[in-house]
Amino acid sequence: MKLHEYQSKELLARFGVPVPAGEVTDNYDEALKIATALGGNVVVKAQVLMGGRGKAGGVKLFTDPATAADFAKDLIGKRLVSIQNPAGMVVEKVLIAETIDIAKEFYVAVLLDRNIQQNIVMISAEGGVEIEEVAEHNPNAIVKIPINPAWGLCDFELRKAVKDANIPKEAQGQMVVMIKNLVRAYIDADADMVEINPCALTPDGKLIAADAKVAIDDNALFRHKDYEATSSDAAEDPIEAEAVNRGIAYVSLGGDIGIMGNGAGLVMQSLDEISAAGGRPANFLDVGGGAQAERVKSCVELILMDPNIKGILINIFGGITRVDEVAKGVLAAFSEMEVTIPVVARIEGTAVEEGRKILEGSQIIAAPTVQAAAKTIVELAYA
Ligand code: GDP
Ligand code: MN
Repeated sequence: MKLHEYQSKELLARFGVPVPAGEVTDNYDEALKIATALGGNVVVKAQVLMGGRGKAGGVKLFTDPATAADFAKDLIGKRLVSIQNPAGMVVEKVLIAETIDIAKEFYVAVLLDRNIQQNIVMISAEGGVEIEEVAEHNPNAIVKIPINPAWGLCDFELRKAVKDANIPKEAQGQMVVMIKNLVRAYIDADADMVEINPCALTPDGKLIAADAKVAIDDNALFRHKDYEATSSDAAEDPIEAEAVNRGIAYVSLGGDIGIMGNGAGLVMQSLDEISAAGGRPANFLDVGGGAQAERVKSCVELILMDPNIKGILINIFGGITRVDEVAKGVLAAFSEMEVTIPVVARIEGTAVEEGRKILEGSQIIAAPTVQAAAKTIVELAYA
């Protein structure tokens, strides 16, 4: 789950990372109050979960509170579009923060490197721009160090890394301290990314996080109840957001054949079989074990929210889940929704005979194997 900039800064500040004073709001009156209280020299920043807000017109500096508040008002409710996010996102809140005088911009991050299966620290003196650009044009400007899972980072390693990254001498000590605090915040929050870009060096030599991005590992959200409450707002895909509300494991995959199965492994197999049959999976959806009719119905509704869906594959292996329960749920959902696209189901396992009987005579085509089901749905969907 990605946190907004203001949430990220609140979190990091608790761990001693210097951040600019500021407050978040969703209306003009408060914006004016905040900007006035901060003395008028403020930066107004759209709180949307996408990169490149600066270039998209979502970050602007002001020298008086009234024009800052006017801009805040214009920004709230507007859809911001960037190169990274062509569909764009609507601005619901803005952060109003004191403007920092910036002499130099650095990049610093703690993240999970899946290739080496360790957390790492990334440092670069080439901050402010997208790190992907630096990685492409000047990869040597990025220093990466793994964080040992047993003993963490040693001071000498950190000092060397900061030096190797060409962080200027006067900022090196502060950078070492900041990284230690970022790592503590990262571990404590069960994050899989903490990124400061730009990490600003002021003309009087102070290091401060001008921007911040934190992402929390979704599997640890139960330990962070205050973020869990806002996790549906944070989903980038509207169907994924609805899935969070419904407590269903759903991932949008961009194709056009909807997939539903019980158990992550079975769903993944279904995705593979659809691809092997020449189809494009629209989603990952795990109904879960012991799924009851109501829940199955809720899952089918979710799949059908995607306007690109041309067909649905259902792959159920009844163990704890009774196949007749699933069949009832599927029929209930379809009877209320006037579904005109083809639906193929491979059902097997506990109470399969009862399940097949329930589906008999309905629009749902039964298939004997997953491969046969995938082949049939691909043929029907793209006919
Ligand atoms: P992003 O484009 O979504 O990453 O948003 P940022 O918060 O990084 O802002 C974009 C750019 O605006 C930064 O790289 C800075 O150059 C500039 N900026 C943001 N806050 C300040 C500030 O307080 N002072 C100054 N001088 N520039 C800022
Ligand atoms: Mn930034």
